[in-house]
Amino acid sequence: MSTKVIYFLVGDRPEQAEFRSDFPADDVKDCFRAAAEAGPHDILKLYNIKGNIVNISQKLDENTPDTPYKLEVVASHGTGTLAEQLGFDIQDVENRLEVLEKKIIVDSGETPGVVYELKHKVEHFKEKLESVEHLSWLGLFKEVVAESQSRLPFFRRRLRKSEEEQRRVLEKFNKIKHVQLTDDVREYLRKPVFDNWQWEDAEMMLLMQQMYIDLDFTTKYNIEMPILQNFLFEVFRHYNHVPFHNFKHCFCVSQMMYGMTWLADLCSLMGDIEVLIMITSAICHDLDHPGYNNAYQVNARTELALRYNDISPLENHHCSVAFQILEKPHCNIFKNIGHERFKKVREGMIRCILATDMAKHSEILNKFKSVVPEFDYSNKDHISLLMQICIKVADISNEARPMDVSDPWIDCLLTEFFNQSDVEKLEGLPVAPFMDREKVTKPSSQTGFIRFVLLPLFESIGLLLPKLDEHIIEPVRKALNYYSEMAKAMEEEKRKKTENDKTRQANGEMPKINSTNGSTTPAIKQNGDAAISNATDKKVVRTNLSMSKVGGSSNVRGNPK
Ligand SMILES: [Zn+2]
Repeated sequence: MSTKVIYFLVGDRPEQAEFRSDFPADDVKDCFRAAAEAGPHDILKLYNIKGNIVNISQKLDENTPDTPYKLEVVASHGTGTLAEQLGFDIQDVENRLEVLEKKIIVDSGETPGVVYELKHKVEHFKEKLESVEHLSWLGLFKEVVAESQSRLPFFRRRLRKSEEEQRRVLEKFNKIKHVQLTDDVREYLRKPVFDNWQWEDAEMMLLMQQMYIDLDFTTKYNIEMPILQNFLFEVFRHYNHVPFHNFKHCFCVSQMMYGMTWLADLCSLMGDIEVLIMITSAICHDLDHPGYNNAYQVNARTELALRYNDISPLENHHCSVAFQILEKPHCNIFKNIGHERFKKVREGMIRCILATDMAKHSEILNKFKSVVPEFDYSNKDHISLLMQICIKVADISNEARPMDVSDPWIDCLLTEFFNQSDVEKLEGLPVAPFMDREKVTKPSSQTGFIRFVLLPLFESIGLLLPKLDEHIIEPVRKALNYYSEMAKAMEEEKRKKTENDKTRQANGEMPKINSTNGSTTPAIKQNGDAAISNATDKKVVRTNLSMSKVGGSSNVRGNPK
């Protein structure tokens, strides 16, 4: 019986597996599972060099080190009951500490350092418990999993940043946090053409710090620099390792919000505190995103959907995490603004972050459109609507950026979508067509999204803030034109191929294919040319958006890129 050697990558790490071709498939799977250090309930995905998923079995085609397969762990089913298994409740310890802290604050007026230290230790220990599958050699993990049959997937632990990474980024940030940025960089930071891909995590934190300084918030709202730095680091810590909704996305949305602030002079038009709310909301708006959208949360009945009763589970969670961070005195950038102002900031941030749920898109946009003709900057309701629109624009603004900046984001988004739809297929859950690697095509999806969602939103804000037109609305029109041209070209290519095939079939040069449904959609490569949706965010309702509510805007102007 022959022996096979299979070369594959786990992340960037090359591995190779050797097994006989008569090995049971389960043994082969276990071998790959061990290489990925995956738990027994994790889902493994193996991609061939073309980016297609292949079955992990003894029948795998042999390859060479130059054509490795790629192995990914896409999800883990957690236990949630580990603490119970260990005989005590960590949550209880946390609660008791919190009560103790409050009591001490009441008695002495401030929290002593020893309580912070205790809290930190509890948090640290809790994280260790939550990632205990890495200690599976102790046998603990397997035992607990076997007893826990919860079908609710739980992704957070695996997505979280490792302590090593946190330490590394914090070290770097500590080294550079006092660096004075040049005028050129500060100027560039105000432009929508800013290229996020050039900056590391610690540098992005420094840039965000500069936003608060240059808007004069640190002075006006007495934000102490160490507290701002702690806040930004905590924010960084709470963005997950997911392909799209990560810390880079947080930075991009914040930077676009910041750019719009300068371009349209929003501080003068709307007020400083409103801009403070919008920038901070942008920074916090996707905190702890698990990489699976609201539709998944609801369909899979996840912990978040249960907690928030299916009502914007993700956005409620992002917002809750934001205020949990701000609740820590050493991270509370609003601690010197006074009670009334804090109330206003909290209300505003909740409204802004919840507005990023695309399920609310039409409702918010229609309300905004109805007030634009008589917009009154002294009307609180009008300002509140404009704030929601601004953060929505910033959130889906990738297409307003230069192509070399926006294009990689499309791959990131697709990877996240495809991960989700793969898991949905495995779990027997509904799959949205725009997330399905078998159905999505780049240009048609981009065209539809830009034409029916993005452009109406951007043009409506352009009516009120015409200064944005040249910088962020015109580029979107050009992107639409570009993708429309691409869609036409692909359509033409498909037509030619069909005709050619028919001719060859008629001439007996190729076999006839019995098509049952008339579908000619090809399988799509993960990073291939035909695979794209769009660079939006929160796609829950993309398929629900009524196409008829928007008039056709087929006369798109601008040159193809
Ligand atoms: Zn977002």
